[in-house]
Amino acid sequence: MSLKSIAVMTSGGDSPGMNAAARAVVRTALFEGVKVWGINNGYHGLLDEDMFEMQSKNVSDIIQRGGTFLGTARCKRWETPEGRRLGYENLKKRGIEGLVVIGGDGSLRGASLLSKETGMPIVGLPGTIDNDVWGSDYTIGCDTAANTIIDAINKLRDTASAHRRVIVLEVMGHHSGWLAMVSGISGGAEYILVPEEPYDLDAICNDMSEAYKKGKRYIMVVVAEGAGSGQEIGKYIAEKTQLDTRVSVLGHIQRGGSPSVIDRVRASQLGEKAALAIISGLSDIVFGFSKGRVVSIDLHDAVNNKKKLDPEYMHLAKVLF
Ligand code: ATP
Repeated sequence: MSLKSIAVMTSGGDSPGMNAAARAVVRTALFEGVKVWGINNGYHGLLDEDMFEMQSKNVSDIIQRGGTFLGTARCKRWETPEGRRLGYENLKKRGIEGLVVIGGDGSLRGASLLSKETGMPIVGLPGTIDNDVWGSDYTIGCDTAANTIIDAINKLRDTASAHRRVIVLEVMGHHSGWLAMVSGISGGAEYILVPEEPYDLDAICNDMSEAYKKGKRYIMVVVAEGAGSGQEIGKYIAEKTQLDTRVSVLGHIQRGGSPSVIDRVRASQLGEKAALAIISGLSDIVFGFSKGRVVSIDLHDAVNNKKKLDPEYMHLAKVLF
C-alpha cells in the first residue's frame, strides 16, 4: 500500500528541532510525489479544521529556529473518544490517509488512541526536551535544552566561586531527571537531585558544611523540578548550613533557542524515516535512536512503558562528586 496524502503536526511542549523534523517530513513526502498537509496548533488544529496543504517553500528558513512553525498546544478535547472521532473525520474529509505526530509521551498516547479507535495510520516522532520516551535514547530537542542548561551552569559557577556561594539551579523535568542528570554531570555539579531517586537533604547539608570547612569555594546543586522546589530546597540548605545560598529557576528558557547540530541532524533523519514509513503504509510505530542508530519502536509499547534513567548516569554522578 502506498499513501497519496499525509499530514504532519506538532503537539505538547515545543522543543528545538521540531521544525527540522516537520521540514524533513514535508520535503520527503514531496520528493516521493505525495501530498502533505500541515496541521496548526496540535490536536486543536485537527478539531478546528485548521490545516493546509504544504509546498516546499512552507518549510523554508525554519531549520535554524526553535519552537515550531506549526504551533503546538495541549488539547483537553482530544482526551475524549468523541474529540478523536471528529479529528479522524476532519482528516478523512480532506483525503488524508496517514498522520505523523511529533510530540512527547502524552501526544503519542493521544495518537495511539486515534489509531486504535479509527484505524488511522500513525507514525510518531519523540519531540520533547525531557528525553523520556520509552524505547529511544534520544528525543528531539533534548540536546539543545541540555546545552542551554550548561550555559547557565557555567555562568552561575563564576558568580558562585566569586562569593563562595551554594547555588541551587532548578531545571525542567516533572517526571524525568534526564536533563538534570546530563547537565549536572557535564556542568560538574556536586549534587544532582532527580525524581527517580530519593535523597536525604539533611545528609547533603552536613556534607556541604564539612566541605566548606575543608576549604570548598562553592557548591552547585542541580534539581529537576519533579524532585522538589528549588526555592524550598535552597531555603532549607541556607537555614540548616548557614551558607550563603542562592536559587535560580531556569524556566522556559530551556525550551527555546536555535537547535544544536545534533538536534537538527537527528530530527531530519527521523522526519525522513517517518515520512517514508507512513507513505509505505506502516503504522503504529515511533522512530527514535538507539546506540546512535535510528530504530523503530511499537507505538503502544512506547506509551505504555516508562523510560528509566540510566543507572550508569546515577553512578557516575556519585563517583564524580
Ligand atoms: P511534553 O513532554 O513536552 O510535555 P507531551 O506530548 O507529553 O509533551 P502532554 O501535555 O502530556 O504533552 O500531551 C499533549 C496533548 O496530547 C494533550 O494536550 C492531549 O491533547 C493529548 N494527550 C495527552 N495524553 C492523552 C491521553 N491519555 N489521551 C488522549 N490524548 C492525550
